[in-house]
Amino acid sequence: MFNTLTERLSSTFKNLRGKGRLTQADIDATAREIRRALLDADVAVPAVREFIAHVKERALGEEVSEALNPGQQVVKIVQSELEEILGGETRNIHLAKTPPTVIMLVGLQGAGKTTLAGKLSKHLKQQGHTPLLVAADLQRPNAVKQLEVNGERAGVPVFAPHPGVSSEHEDPTGNPVEVAKAGVEEAKVRQHDIVLIDTAGRLGVDQELMQQASDIRAATNPDEVLFVIDAMIGQDAVATAQAFNEGVGFTGVVLSKMDGDARGGAALSVKYITGKPIMFASTGEGLDDFEVFHPDRMASRILD
Ligand code: GDP
Repeated sequence: MFNTLTERLSSTFKNLRGKGRLTQADIDATAREIRRALLDADVAVPAVREFIAHVKERALGEEVSEALNPGQQVVKIVQSELEEILGGETRNIHLAKTPPTVIMLVGLQGAGKTTLAGKLSKHLKQQGHTPLLVAADLQRPNAVKQLEVNGERAGVPVFAPHPGVSSEHEDPTGNPVEVAKAGVEEAKVRQHDIVLIDTAGRLGVDQELMQQASDIRAATNPDEVLFVIDAMIGQDAVATAQAFNEGVGFTGVVLSKMDGDARGGAALSVKYITGKPIMFASTGEGLDDFEVFHPDRMASRILD
């Protein structure tokens, strides 16, 4: 059995090195294999369709190099097209001209937002920033505590809505929008240059959740809204990303649980559907299991 796309396509074209240009027949023969590889990697169907159309267009008439057979040549095109799509707009956090930079995290419950908040705050601290974490997830009973634990591990202070937290401002208990606003004010007073707001998620997309996240966005005017999505979500990635993109809007994507056995198709689906850059990957439960997103590694992961 041939497992990787490279192996499968290479076997289709065994011994056909350097036979000139790629023909329509070559490309049609490979399209089925490419489609299968992408679906196996859990890329959503509409994204697969559009991707293959792109590859076909690009491959037609391309010179087959002496060193490769047509199958390998197509794989090279697929790999580079994937990298381009996944990485065309990879970028760092946009910092506000006047601090604090406000970063808001959104996503379904269990996506990995609270965990990511700790990781990202540590990453930013290591870069010389002075972040403040804000616990505006008041939905999940344990979320505030969890963020406080993560903050402590990261050595980053947490602004949380319960008595006992020192604050220059009134205790905004109970209202996530007020907590988020107060958190930003707190950062200004205490001169934190970045504020990271953790928000509530639901198990499924719902209107109330979207409205709350949207209200927090309107109240805090974030420089970045990062959509955290579980890489294991597979085909559901499209509907979830669409709902958050329309309901709240986001500026970048974080893929979590990349340490699982997901092949990473969600990355391609989300990028296709929303056009928003994938900025970071979360790769475990630990505070340091965090990476800046690498399009080339993801492309290989999807294809291998
Ligand atoms: P939230 O509801 O979006 O805030 O999600 P959490 O941050 O609470 O994460 C939900 C669960 O997933 C927790 O048990 C985390 O420890 C776990 N988790 C978060 N990120 C990752 C990751 O990158 N890899 C793995 N294996 N687990 C993760």
